[in-house]
Amino acid sequence: MQKGVFIIIGLIFGFTLYGQSSITETSIHDLVKNRADEIFDSLVEIRRDFHMYPELSGKEQRTSKKIEEYLLDLGLEVKTGVGGYGVVGILKGGKQGKKIAWRADIDAFSTNFPDVVEFASKRAGVRHICGHDVHTTIALGIANVLSDIKDELNGTVYFLFQPSEESFEGAKLMIKDGLFDIITPDEIYGLHMFPIPTGTISTKPDEVFTYMRRIRVSFKKGVPVDSVKELTTAIARDLSRAKSESKPWELQNLSHPEIGIFSPDNSYQDYLIIRDNFRVTELNDRYLFESVLYETDRLNLDSILIKAEQQILNSEYKDKFIGIEYTSEDPGVINNKELTESALNLIGEVYGGKSIIPDYGQIPFFNDDFSYFQQHVPGVYFLLGGSNSDKGLISMPHSPNFAVDEESIRIGVKYFASLIINRANVK
Ligand SMILES: [Zn+2]
Ligand SMILES: [Zn+2]
Repeated sequence: MQKGVFIIIGLIFGFTLYGQSSITETSIHDLVKNRADEIFDSLVEIRRDFHMYPELSGKEQRTSKKIEEYLLDLGLEVKTGVGGYGVVGILKGGKQGKKIAWRADIDAFSTNFPDVVEFASKRAGVRHICGHDVHTTIALGIANVLSDIKDELNGTVYFLFQPSEESFEGAKLMIKDGLFDIITPDEIYGLHMFPIPTGTISTKPDEVFTYMRRIRVSFKKGVPVDSVKELTTAIARDLSRAKSESKPWELQNLSHPEIGIFSPDNSYQDYLIIRDNFRVTELNDRYLFESVLYETDRLNLDSILIKAEQQILNSEYKDKFIGIEYTSEDPGVINNKELTESALNLIGEVYGGKSIIPDYGQIPFFNDDFSYFQQHVPGVYFLLGGSNSDKGLISMPHSPNFAVDEESIRIGVKYFASLIINRANVK
């Protein structure tokens, strides 16, 4: 009896939410869910295969071949060798619509931390400790689900399998190799595993991470290196800022209900971290003192250099001071505001409000070269939950005990296949 009541309410709710035309939309998401469940076991097998044979940035030959074979089997048009071992799959829907790109990174990482899973890496010193094996598998799963319903699908979907994310070169290489001559997406989406509960996703408009800059201070030879290092350390500590008592650099607090990024008034807002352990190298007639900083507000980046320079010019080493500069300026992940809001609304409508954890902060230390694609195409980068406290799994990228609840593959395929269908159908 009670079940019946719920079905009736569900039907009424469905009509109210979507109106007459969206009965089809509702049922297409049911097709997505069913197909994702059907192929789930095979996806887990594929993921474990990638996991056992991880490949470092620029060496993803085997992984690339497997991706190519899978996409060809699905009947997609496939381009290989895009920016190294990059692969692009093109799926044309049976109806008119927009062109949507989905990106997955495919490389593994160099680490000697022992692998914690049963299907451990068979390659010494190389491991999928960042979850790109899962990212790749989810993208293949989405391609499978969408191929299965391609007659009903609007528009075109591009699947980008990107090499060399860990070295931050792959996106640039694919673009330089003519990626945007091969494909012309209207929107681009991608994800990264993140230590939040499996079944949930998170993201926010605008900056997802902090602005990371490498900073270099140059002095003429003849300065006492140790004393100058003390000076740069003191400046780094003086300029760094955080809300009182908060420690945004403590990443274990990320999912803390009050201080983590999911509380509207959290620690991960309005801060600057300057690493105070400057590395010193010699170059011709000079010493270079180098470090890294993480700043939440782009508008502060110039004034950090000016303030540091002032402190050096007020010191006894001012006569030997040559200059201060940023030496690398990789763009950060910046989510398009409208697309982010629309994506979160859609996934919340189809999969329930509990599937989304709001994100109110900017995470230090991480970045993703997905940002290079976003410079060409508006897009959204999602954080996908892979942790499961009951199973003792924590999916914090690059941490020694990194592990993923494989249910997150099922979740990722469903949520983002539904998202792509919806976005391709937006007029
Ligand atoms: Zn990584
Ligand atoms: Zn990663």
